Amino acid sequence: MRLYRTSIMKKIIVLTGAGISAESGLKTFRDSDGLWEGYNIEEVATPEAWRRNPALVQEFYNMRRKSVLEAKPNAAHYALAELGQQYDVTIITQNIDDLHERAGSENVIHLHGVITRSQSDKNPNLTYPIDGWELKMGELCELGSQLRAHVVWFGEAVPMIEEAARICMTADIFILIGSSLAVYPAAGLVNYVPRGVPKYIIDPKIPYLPSDNFIRIEEKATVGVPRLVNQLVNG
Ligand code: NAD
Repeated sequence: MRLYRTSIMKKIIVLTGAGISAESGLKTFRDSDGLWEGYNIEEVATPEAWRRNPALVQEFYNMRRKSVLEAKPNAAHYALAELGQQYDVTIITQNIDDLHERAGSENVIHLHGVITRSQSDKNPNLTYPIDGWELKMGELCELGSQLRAHVVWFGEAVPMIEEAARICMTADIFILIGSSLAVYPAAGLVNYVPRGVPKYIIDPKIPYLPSDNFIRIEEKATVGVPRLVNQLVNG
């Protein structure tokens, strides 16, 4: 057998929340008193809301999609894409926007779905790209049922959570950006990162953390993320 060398890249796992997209103009929950663009989440982001008033829910997500399509990735999204040139980076995002992908990141797991796709009301595994911002009532999947936004509502299962937990266990470095850690099961992912792995948090208002061995970077994402990436890339 021949001798050969492998170059082993360190594995960086990044968990992002609404805060990373705040400076792209997309509002977070916690900074608006638990409302989402003026709505209670029970009115627009639950299966009950969809049964009660599907047109309102559809309209709500159409407006969110419009904002996402108008938004641009910011310096934090771009810095993470750059980090992927030197490290084996996987981003696990709670966000339903596609700004990580538009910035050039390749391995992105959307725990809560992505608003640029639709899904069948009957079978959540049937998803489709949406052309433009509007998904209309009466637009049907191949099974003949209504299409809704491909997002995970409060009270619904999070199909990617086990895969995400498994990935967190493989981290050599872990970075948490812009999440209040108030939404479960996503918030529980930090508990799967092995002890002893360097852990960073970037947030201008750092939330309660389940362990005290985080390196705290109390900055907005567009300041803290490029700075940390520079440190990790240039040593
Ligand atoms: P959250 O709204 O609960 O918390 C936002 C966190 O970001 C807070 O800790 C806040 O201090 C921090 N933050 C605010 N401005 C920041 C900045 N400039 N830089 C860095 N951090 C900043 O968000 P969450 O924990 O992600 O939970 C909210 C849920 O709402 C998610 O599940 C997500 O699906 C959904 N959501 C998504 C979007 C989006 O896709 N852009 C926007 C709003 C809500």
